[in-house]
Amino acid sequence: SYRKGGYHAVRVGDQFAGGRYIAQRKLGWGQFSTVWLAYDTTTSAYVALKIQKSAAQFVQAALHEIDVLSCLADGADKNCVVKLIDHFKHIGPNGQHLCMVLEFLGDSLLRLVKYSRYKGVPLNKVREICKCILIGLDYLHREHSIIHTDLKPENVLLVSTIDPAKDPIKSGLSPILERPEGSVNGGVTSLIEKKLKRRARRAVAKISGRSSSIGGTESLKTDRNLDGIDVRCKVVDFGNACWADKQFAEEIQTRQYRAPEVILQAGYSFSVDMWSFACMAFELATGDMLFTPKVGQGFSEDEDHLALMMELLGKMPRKIAIGGAKSKDFFDRHGDLKRIRRLKFWPLNKLLVERYKFSESDAHEFSEFLQPLFEFAPEKRPSAQQCLQHPWLKGMESTPNEMKNESSVEKVGVGMSNLKIKVGK
Ligand code: ADP
Ligand code: MG
Repeated sequence: SYRKGGYHAVRVGDQFAGGRYIAQRKLGWGQFSTVWLAYDTTTSAYVALKIQKSAAQFVQAALHEIDVLSCLADGADKNCVVKLIDHFKHIGPNGQHLCMVLEFLGDSLLRLVKYSRYKGVPLNKVREICKCILIGLDYLHREHSIIHTDLKPENVLLVSTIDPAKDPIKSGLSPILERPEGSVNGGVTSLIEKKLKRRARRAVAKISGRSSSIGGTESLKTDRNLDGIDVRCKVVDFGNACWADKQFAEEIQTRQYRAPEVILQAGYSFSVDMWSFACMAFELATGDMLFTPKVGQGFSEDEDHLALMMELLGKMPRKIAIGGAKSKDFFDRHGDLKRIRRLKFWPLNKLLVERYKFSESDAHEFSEFLQPLFEFAPEKRPSAQQCLQHPWLKGMESTPNEMKNESSVEKVGVGMSNLKIKVGK
């Protein structure tokens, strides 16, 4: 991809915008761009420099993202969305690259889940993260009529509260964990660097709730030592965002976070973000993606996805099932799936207890919060503003006499997709 129209190769120390920004190390990359930690010589601060590929369609996409981010910039600080600081063009051997200067953030929630060893982040942390994301969504939806359309753990980054210059170890959590690929000293892993990485991992582990001691495997959902750490995060990646009345694509969202109305092509609005949000909250709390549909013999990934949804949420109301442009591909006129029959209903609160060993009270409270977001009827889903009022977010603690139901801990969950019979054409 480092060729004409592709990525711009960067080396540590490279200068941008007439010397204002100096590249420090690579932070990450996406389909469209590489992102570098850079030092801003004008403000003496660290920033994230997103350097877009140079081909025309990427320039177009970057212009769109800049457009969206510019709208959001004024309220970005207090509303949990990433702030655009500056943008400019950079000419390199592969062409003209649009560059966005963004506030420097830390690890993504995906990494946080990874550092929980896919066991899930403690619920009190999930609550704090949910609050931030909802503040961001409420800001997008109500103040700007913007739909993110690609909400997922990769696109929510933790706020790094420490200046990387003063404390490169604790800062950002990610920069040091991320191997500085493409940098001049990328291959060097000195002893010191290893030590720094270990310390950085411990910092992430603290937030993700993973015990930092070797071999520690205690249940972390009840870990009280983490209460002091204030988790904050921000929504990033507005490359696919649109306005409610100015949409660009019919097929939006990353598969696992895709709302039913998008699969059915029944039109969409802000509530698609609420669906993705709920999928993400579940994943944070359990370490597993909620829906991972697969193609099977005689049925598509889309049909499997709809089946998985109905196994968790019950039958889709007929009116909704048959109401989309693609409904006929999946449903018969009664509103039953054409090729996947006999669904096994396994509701959310039971799933949380039986498969994920939540206490009855945690499962009850968490599913009371999530369930309304999984309404098949998009207009029935609560808005971000309404979610922010939910008791679960107000830090409702479980009552002390509602203790863990030991008998239910014994039960072993059965994989959902094993439970349905799939009928070939
Ligand atoms: P793309 O549009 O190419 O997917 P993203 O905006 O998602 O690009 O950024 C790619 C990656 O770069 C992210 O997943 C993250 O790891 C890193 N990144 C993006 N923005 C920032 C930021 N402001 N601070 C720190 N890292 C960032
Ligand atoms: Mg991305």
